[in-house]
Amino acid sequence: MNNEEIRTVLQDLPVSVGGFVFHDDDGQPVVVLNSRLSAERRMKAFRHEVEHIENGDMYDMNYNEYGGNTT
Ligand SMILES: [Zn+2]
Repeated sequence: MNNEEIRTVLQDLPVSVGGFVFHDDDGQPVVVLNSRLSAERRMKAFRHEVEHIENGDMYDMNYNEYGGNTT
């Protein structure tokens, strides 16, 4: 998967949250990043979320970016 094909949206999230991934109605992953982060931290969060997509983590029902990851 090409990282540039992954859709990214910015959202005002709690500062403790870097970002998360969800799937749109077509099953395509969408990375949501915290607009309150610095560009540097946002980039880091993006790479982190892309890793989850590449690992298929979000297909795991136990995966929860907020509540402490299982891995
Ligand atoms: Zn994570």
